[in-house]
Amino acid sequence: MLVEIDVAIIGAGVIGLATAREIAQEKKGVFVFEKNRTFGLETSSRNSEVIHAGIYYPEDSLKAKLCVEGRSLLYKLCDKHNIAYKKTGKIIVAAAENEISWLEELYEQGRKNSVDDLVLLSRTELKKLEPNIEARAGLLSPSSGILDSYTLLKVLYSQAKEKGAEFAFDTEVVGIERMGEKYRIEIRDREGISAIISRIVINTAGLNSDRIARLAGLDIAKAGYRLHYCKGEYFSLSSRYRNVVNRLIYPIPEQAGHGIHWKRGLDGRVLLGPSAYYVEAIDYAVDETHKQYFYGSAKRFLPFVELEDLDPESAGIRPKLQGPGEGFRDFVITHEEKAGFPGLINLIGIESPGLTAAPAIARYVGRMVAELFY
Ligand SMILES: Cc1cc2nc3c(=O)[nH]c(=O)nc-3n(C[C@H](O)[C@H](O)[C@H](O)COP(=O)(O)OP(=O)(O)OC[C@H]3O[C@@H](n4cnc5c(N)ncnc54)[C@H](O)[C@@H]3O)c2cc1C
Repeated sequence: MLVEIDVAIIGAGVIGLATAREIAQEKKGVFVFEKNRTFGLETSSRNSEVIHAGIYYPEDSLKAKLCVEGRSLLYKLCDKHNIAYKKTGKIIVAAAENEISWLEELYEQGRKNSVDDLVLLSRTELKKLEPNIEARAGLLSPSSGILDSYTLLKVLYSQAKEKGAEFAFDTEVVGIERMGEKYRIEIRDREGISAIISRIVINTAGLNSDRIARLAGLDIAKAGYRLHYCKGEYFSLSSRYRNVVNRLIYPIPEQAGHGIHWKRGLDGRVLLGPSAYYVEAIDYAVDETHKQYFYGSAKRFLPFVELEDLDPESAGIRPKLQGPGEGFRDFVITHEEKAGFPGLINLIGIESPGLTAAPAIARYVGRMVAELFY
């Protein structure tokens, strides 16, 4: 006889962990399956660790709403559980005169998204806040910050466990089959292939989430769920520039990312990144030949930086729904009942601001699960 559970969560990144924490209760059997040896080894530990304010996204999008809600939940969570963070604030800077209108647009967009503490800065005001930055103007977001994402993941994991969620690591989901009102989930672990039955399946498989949807039987091309991988690399700046910036410094956003920004981490080190370019496969190596590009980008705002001040650091990969040159795509967070898969909840394309939005995404999914149970 196959073991039966109530909820199977596929993937223990920040989204799977936050969701498990949200919905775990003693009366529900919640299991999290993770193909790696532990939680958070993929995108959730390969990002900028920035708590975003919610400026960039179209109003009424899930990205805007869940980022704004998630930011406030995340700061509270950090306070409550001693997760290190710093509300550093962030400044988006215009390098040239013709970029200033972009700042004004972002200011308006932010206000539409209920980010109501934004301040447009003249060159002189910017210089007072960031004496080392050379730019024409800026947009200050006081509520942006940085956090220790590893401790966040650890707290979410321990709380989910305390509430009764069970975790199976080194366990890859390799098949999903609908059986009436339930799903048969095939898993591969060290002992081989086995199966369990679950009433609800929550797909939080990050870079693999489109494949998981396909495994379940969805036509992902028709649904618009096919993911494109967009790599982002980071370079670190020599330790002699530890305090060169006081806040997060961002350029005007690029099409595929927020642009190469400057981040002074909680440890004082300054990182530059992430870049944004589409790749076919998951490979986290940093290509040293990209140093020149980072150097050019750094030089625009900090003219005194030299090429040898930069060192390759790390990389992450964005699970993007939009391919090269395509327009905005929102997070997919959908109960697939209409597609003929009641009980299957897909989370696809959870790129930035997914870390910030995680607690709000978990609440959103929690409401879907509650509806399915009652
Ligand atoms: C370069 C970069 C910078 C970013 N910066 C920020 C930022 O500053 N602020 C912010 O808010 N957001 C940022 N993000 C976005 C944020 O990191 C992601 O939205 C978030 O981490 C996504 O979490 P996840 O749980 O969906 O995915 P993941 O962390 O990738 O977790 C998915 C998990 O599913 C597991 N899995 C996959 N397939 C299977 C399977 N078949 N069986 C079992 N397990 C499986 C994987 O092993 C993985 O552990 C950034 C992203 C990138 C790439």
